[in-house]
Amino acid sequence: MLGILGGGQLGRMFCMEARRMGYRTLVWTGGLEAPAIVVADEAIDAPFDSAEALEEFVAKAAVATVEFENIPRETLEAVAAKIALHPSPNAVAICQHREREKAFLKQHGIPHAPFAVVASAEELAAAILEIGTPAVLKTAAFGYDGKGQLKLNGGEDPAAVWAAFETDRAVLEAFIPFERELSVMVARSADGSVVAYDPAENRHRHHILDVSIVPARIGPSVAAEAKVIACRVAEALDYRGIMGVEFFHLPNGSLLVNEMAPRPHNSGHHTLDACATSQFEQQVRVICGLPAGSPRLLSPVVMLNLLGDMWPDEQVPPDWMPLFQDGSAFLHLYGKRRAIGRRKMGHANFLGADPEDALKRAETIKAGLLRGGR
Ligand code: AMP
Repeated sequence: MLGILGGGQLGRMFCMEARRMGYRTLVWTGGLEAPAIVVADEAIDAPFDSAEALEEFVAKAAVATVEFENIPRETLEAVAAKIALHPSPNAVAICQHREREKAFLKQHGIPHAPFAVVASAEELAAAILEIGTPAVLKTAAFGYDGKGQLKLNGGEDPAAVWAAFETDRAVLEAFIPFERELSVMVARSADGSVVAYDPAENRHRHHILDVSIVPARIGPSVAAEAKVIACRVAEALDYRGIMGVEFFHLPNGSLLVNEMAPRPHNSGHHTLDACATSQFEQQVRVICGLPAGSPRLLSPVVMLNLLGDMWPDEQVPPDWMPLFQDGSAFLHLYGKRRAIGRRKMGHANFLGADPEDALKRAETIKAGLLRGGR
């Protein structure tokens, strides 16, 4: 029985791969809406601070993993005290908190954007002088998909900005005029061996991942360097499991690590249809002490995220016929009942002869979905 902390779509796809491989799964949802419940063998629908839930989880699961980094550190520690948890609570704690994440990158000499830690209006004023503008103010804890972020262009009143930001710790980061965003998925096994997938080129819409293009349209040396850096991150964290490392690729060719995800990542969903081993199978393999599978890309691919605003109505799905008529597009839906706002409802992988061909078809389908949406 494989235990998973969190019950979102990443947990759902983990459970589906685990089942295919003959494992049983136990999902602890944290009390949140949980697309994974219906595909798990068993589920515990309770908050992460529940002592009874903890007892049941560690009694039933042989080994555990996470699908969501914002799990209280105490819960991670309590699970790890009883059963094997991969990745470790320490690795998750670093990735779930921007200040710790930045400190980690700095300590290990891994390239990252200049930053300063801010805990008051005075410190924000000093940080603006040090880092300069434009800059991005980010909450230290619980940020994702651009949430808890504010761009400062210069001229703002630090006291007013700090008062409105409503947090007690933040990081001010230099704004990076990147050429493109990249990410690399890596799987690191019990024996320390590590495999890296080809970098994905990521484009966002409203701060949420829109499309991932694989292979990224970069030279072989940039691709190789991104993989090397991602492997170094996994090694420095003494990581066991699957992780995503996000990069900014600058016009001068250099790479900066933006952030890390201690779990499967949205930009790795193409691996379900386009790679020898999916990122979810890697997670199963590595937490179970099996060797990682080949990360080889079998076909160029574009992953299109399907967000709630593509739904004509909260409970009415789009017409999928154009997508199915494509023949080389593969639909993955997460079983969420209501398409609220820009919630991630699913994704589609478009296989193609080359990334441009796949992108063109994905963009056509996307335009139709957006026309029919809200
Ligand atoms: P994050 O939640 O840190 O991944 O930020 C979400 C998105 O905001 C990133 O994928 C970038 O597109 C953008 N962003 C974040 N930090 C910076 C930065 N320092 N400079 C430029 N863009 C940024």
